[in-house]
Amino acid sequence: MDTFAKKYVDGFIADLIARNPGEAEFHQAVQEVAFSLVPYLEDNPYLIDQKILERIAEPERIIIFRVPWTDDRGVIRINRGFRVQCNSALGPYKGGIRFHASVNLSIMKFLAFEQTFKNSLTTLPMGGAKGGSDFNPRGKSDAEVMRFCQSFMTELSKHIGQDTDVPAGDIGVGGREIGYLFGQYKRLRNEFTGTLTGKGLAWGGSLLRPEATGYGLCYFTESMLATRGKSFSGQTVLVSGSGNVAQYAAQKAMRLGAKVVSMSDSDGCIYDPDGLDEEKMSFIFELKNIRRGRIREYADRYPGATYYPGKRPWDIPCDIALPCATQNEICEEDAGKLVANGCYCVAEGANMPSTPEAAAVFHNARILYSPGKASNAGGVATSGLEMSQNSVRQHWTAEEVDKNLRRIMSEIHEACLKYGTEEDGYVNYVKGANIAGFIKVAGAMMDQGIV
Ligand code: NDP
Repeated sequence: MDTFAKKYVDGFIADLIARNPGEAEFHQAVQEVAFSLVPYLEDNPYLIDQKILERIAEPERIIIFRVPWTDDRGVIRINRGFRVQCNSALGPYKGGIRFHASVNLSIMKFLAFEQTFKNSLTTLPMGGAKGGSDFNPRGKSDAEVMRFCQSFMTELSKHIGQDTDVPAGDIGVGGREIGYLFGQYKRLRNEFTGTLTGKGLAWGGSLLRPEATGYGLCYFTESMLATRGKSFSGQTVLVSGSGNVAQYAAQKAMRLGAKVVSMSDSDGCIYDPDGLDEEKMSFIFELKNIRRGRIREYADRYPGATYYPGKRPWDIPCDIALPCATQNEICEEDAGKLVANGCYCVAEGANMPSTPEAAAVFHNARILYSPGKASNAGGVATSGLEMSQNSVRQHWTAEEVDKNLRRIMSEIHEACLKYGTEEDGYVNYVKGANIAGFIKVAGAMMDQGIV
């Protein structure tokens, strides 16, 4: 029989869907969190009376704006910009900016909602936000990307600031874009502050910020593996994506002794049965970050590898899968194949890469499975460390940043164990991360009144 908390969550979700029609990704993200909170709400019914879930699921502010710019042929282009400021109970809004053709309000809201819990898990003082545009940087010249970034920031600058909202990168927004965004912000506001993170090292960036999401993912995975007496050593690993998170996840997994046999982009995936090595990694860094090429070129360079157009890597046998591309990139069928082929650990580098059906397959198979909000939190955590360094106008060493990153990932893992360990000893990392992240945000909201 359904408990009162389960009935409440059912009603809450029905209202949310009616109130936010057509926002499938947002519904998915909220449902995942809300249902895993049922046992906690059962024990803390005052949170239901206080309408904490309803409040968290209603962003504090959403800004939608026109981004006009001119391409290299002189043609006027119009994109749509977004900033969803979801929750500021724990600190200034913080979350990345995504430039991708698929960006819409639903995706922005799901990412801002997830970010709120992720930032809470880091234990650093950061609220949750996300932004972006349906601008597609693929095939654009540097000058076009710069003009777009300047136009985007001309509006966004009115809504952000070092104590208000501190954006960072995400899909399609790396060092180049952060540079152009920062330059325009500085010009408009006439101030040099840490309002964006992911900055270049010479102008306020933190050592290890580019590596942080991928490295943090591997540190978190190490902790997961340790619960079963295992490590990366000798394990076969699938990585999807070939962007920022994927590159550094692959590099760190390889350096920890794993054989990383796949990477991908939106056109297809490569399978290299011999695994990546330092030389192959250098090729990928140069290919993706300097030449901005496609992953298929890896198979031209290394004939031992095969390129599969239009495919994701999930039917390749592996021990560990690190999805690092985008949301909903592992469906139920993919999850079934992974488990059937012996995969016993899935740690998410991307945000919400597994559909709810895929997550259910992992849970039912009792494999190690962590949600992005826990395992990819190293990126925003290191952005938090960049903010601290900017505030005190200091530069920490790579060792110092890495030590903090390892500590934070280990503490997030501990929090997942604390709130996610079930009666039979199985660790439900989704439940653990959601409850641990929620408790802090809910407590701060209660303290701050109905605002
Ligand atoms: P990048 O833009 O650097 O790389 C994204 C990669 O994923 C590219 O290889 C891209 O291929 C591929 N990809 C993007 N969209 C799709 C799609 N629809 N189907 C298949 N492949 C796709 O982004 P990041 O590495 O920064 O981000 C990857 C994921 O990690 C995202 O979910 C992001 O939200 C998450 N994340 C990122 C953090 C960060 O610090 N950067 C922090 C925490 C989470 P292509 O080149 O063809 O587009």
